Amino acid sequence: MTAPILKPDDGALERAADTLRGGGLVAIPTETVYGLACDASNSEAIARLYAAKGRPTFNPLITHVAADGMDVREAVWVGLSAGLVASFWPGPLTVVLPFARETGTVSDLARAGLDTIALRQPDHPVASDLITAFGGPIVAPSANPSGRMSPTTAAHVSADMGDKVDLILDGGPCRVGLESTIVSFVGSSPTLLRPGGLDPALIENVLGVKLLKSTDDPDAPTSPGQLLRHYSPKASLRLEAEAAREGESFLGFGAIDGSLNLSPTGDLTEAAANLFTMLRALDGTSTAICVAPIPRDGLGLAINDRLRRAATR
Ligand code: AMP
Ligand code: MG
Repeated sequence: MTAPILKPDDGALERAADTLRGGGLVAIPTETVYGLACDASNSEAIARLYAAKGRPTFNPLITHVAADGMDVREAVWVGLSAGLVASFWPGPLTVVLPFARETGTVSDLARAGLDTIALRQPDHPVASDLITAFGGPIVAPSANPSGRMSPTTAAHVSADMGDKVDLILDGGPCRVGLESTIVSFVGSSPTLLRPGGLDPALIENVLGVKLLKSTDDPDAPTSPGQLLRHYSPKASLRLEAEAAREGESFLGFGAIDGSLNLSPTGDLTEAAANLFTMLRALDGTSTAICVAPIPRDGLGLAINDRLRRAATR
């Protein structure tokens, strides 16, 4: 049976909150990508979520909170972490912190048994209203089978996971279109675990220090977003292409035009928002895709990161 897709009115939000209370799975819009949400304190629900995604259970999940202080009891706010989230929450920034054993409610399974927790406050009214209506933190990894492309519309979720979730809230297309930027405060110095929808340069400006890269520190925890093969289309993918070869469909950028163009004006924010939607569109119609070069500054870092992983076979 395919899950109903609901417009997020009051009735739908109450129904979704009830589904979460009952241990069910609800696909929700966030500003980054659509998430597959369940109660972060309910291990059975989380086990069901891992099974639905086909995700290796040692991959920890990001806990999503609303603006009402539910984040405070879950983590130990070490170093400059509190100041950083004050600048960027709600928004596409995830912080990894020591888990607050005494007061935290998030299940061990959601944290994959780690003594740390990844936290984010999404910047989307449907996500925050649902978390508030539910009354506690939720986990919400991207609502796609593990390793595949992230969904940025309710229709993507329905196509990929419609038979595995209880209901889908339709909040329209995602504004950012890329997963959150993840910064860990667990090591000796703030570390970028995954580039994403928030430009790392903006984070460095607020922190007043350069972020370590996770590869700089052999002891830094790794993230599944760092798995080499991830975000993959079914079609083959060739990067840094100046022109299409025989049989390829071409995803352009800026002046290099293709059958689709991530951003004709060369705007990286627009390109990020279009990335997964356009890759999906081309994946549906051809077996070989090539993509024009994307600059490596600002959000271009995260776009190139996703493309590199998507191209890995
Ligand atoms: P996703 O929910 O699919 O966007 O992926 C969540 C990302 O957050 C993964 O790359 C996780 O490994 C990372 N993550 C979640 N919790 C932790 C943690 N405690 N330590 C390090 N990374 C984490
Ligand atoms: Mg994902």
